[in-house]
Amino acid sequence: MTDSPVTDSPVTDTMVGPRNITHWIGGKPWTGTPSARGDVYDPATGQVSGYVDLGGPAEVNAAVAAAKAAFADWRRASLSRRASILFSFRELVKAYTGELAAAVTAEHGKVAPDAAGEVARGLEVVEFACGIPHLLKGGFSENVSTGVDSYSLRQPLGVVAGITPFNFPAMVPMWMFPLAIACGNTFVLKPSEKDPSASLLLASLWAEAGLPDGVFNVVHGDKAAVDAILGHPDIAAVSFVGSTPVARYVYERGTTAGKRVQALGGAKNHMVVLPDADLDLAADAAVSAAFGSAGERCMAISALVAVEPAGDELIDRIRARISRLRVGPGTDERAEMGPLVTGPHRDRVASYLDSGVREGATLAVDGRAHPVIGAVQGDGEAGGGFWLGPSVLDHVSPGMSCYDDEIFGPVLSVARVDSYEAAVAMVNASPYGNGTAVFTNDGGAARRFVSEIEVGMVGVNVPIPVPMAYYSFGGWKSSLFGDTHVHGTEGVHFYTRGKVVTSRWLDPSHGGVSLGFPVNS
Ligand code: NAD
Repeated sequence: MTDSPVTDSPVTDTMVGPRNITHWIGGKPWTGTPSARGDVYDPATGQVSGYVDLGGPAEVNAAVAAAKAAFADWRRASLSRRASILFSFRELVKAYTGELAAAVTAEHGKVAPDAAGEVARGLEVVEFACGIPHLLKGGFSENVSTGVDSYSLRQPLGVVAGITPFNFPAMVPMWMFPLAIACGNTFVLKPSEKDPSASLLLASLWAEAGLPDGVFNVVHGDKAAVDAILGHPDIAAVSFVGSTPVARYVYERGTTAGKRVQALGGAKNHMVVLPDADLDLAADAAVSAAFGSAGERCMAISALVAVEPAGDELIDRIRARISRLRVGPGTDERAEMGPLVTGPHRDRVASYLDSGVREGATLAVDGRAHPVIGAVQGDGEAGGGFWLGPSVLDHVSPGMSCYDDEIFGPVLSVARVDSYEAAVAMVNASPYGNGTAVFTNDGGAARRFVSEIEVGMVGVNVPIPVPMAYYSFGGWKSSLFGDTHVHGTEGVHFYTRGKVVTSRWLDPSHGGVSLGFPVNS
């Protein structure tokens, strides 16, 4: 534990052994009696490590009431005060990166440096939000008509909610709440029930940073909590990140209820390798982007499109790199890739290896045979973990389930095409449009790709093009429902509404009734 005055931490006190994980409402842990609880696992051992309270309408009502009460004062807090609290929060998150990362590794399974990386990327949004006095500056025009001035403001919406997925339990919530709170809103977070602890540590850090009680609240739960959020009349806006079917549902239900909604969905990210590319660089990138975090990243490369004759050489290079990858518990510093998040998810991901072969693909690398550090699969201390090594299916094509579905695990599907045009057509035919990358040494081809590809985030010789916090993150097509991407200036717009004021202070020249429409003179 870092030497810091954080008290009453709901996570760090209880990091050892199965523990109860509860809501954070009105600036403190909830003390009610839960009507339902869910199991939380250590994915590296398969053991239950905690029990999370699953909230419903009552808990959501309590959190929204706390947030609504806090809004009255928080919206009036000066920009300097908000920025000052954000700076303190930034320092605390930085100081507690190790604890946050440990909470992520313990429940998600990703390796410790990867977990620390997600905290660092979330921190970038906090740092961006520290500039809120500048971000909320409006415009001013003197004398739009004689003696009349106009100016624009952006004001907070009220109580806003965030619903987040399991795969980035620290970073994705931090895409949302720093800006929402900096803009003067109060926030209710519904994190994934699979790895709920990081959100509680973040809540206690907010309290330590001096955020008034009720400005940030956490309600754990599943569909029941989500439905209570979507139906709550006092929630003005919802940010969602998760799978496409749930994103669509949240968008449709939330907007029908009159809320502003941004709902980011699933992905099938293609990496196109042109024949002139540096194939060692491309193989390094493909292996890193396909198997980092066991492929459980919305920006993971899951489809590799090799423009022939690059295919065979690329597969050979990828196979050689995979054979050296060290799979093991996220707490083992030798491990580069951890387990999958749950047993059912591991089994679902592994099922694509069989269905892929049945549908005509070639199993170039079978991850089921990959050794696990410190454990024999199915045996030993880590043997009950949710393990699946990196796998490659070759000669994959659209229509096969391993190509059409978002697998969300360490399975790379390789498709081979004959031309640049065929590669672009394949990517653009995908219903998803989150991220993509092109690998080439031909600047003209890369420039054309950037222009022609129908995807929201594009990398040129960069396999995971996650934008910095001062740009906005979001995909196209079925990877995002709504009009605004998250963080950056689009995030500021999402969490505020505009107002334009036209003002005249009386001077001796005023006077006279006019029923005509106001025109400027
Ligand atoms: P998920 O859709 O199962 O869950 C996301 C959230 O919705 C969770 O809080 C969960 O409790 C809730 N939820 C689940 N089922 C629900 C239902 N039927 N009704 C209402 N709420 C429900 O997603 P996940 O498995 O936690 O996360 C992985 C998915 O998230 C992948 O599809 C991945 O691509 C996507 N993702 C997308 C982005 C992006 O930026 N586009 C980022 C991260 C993850």
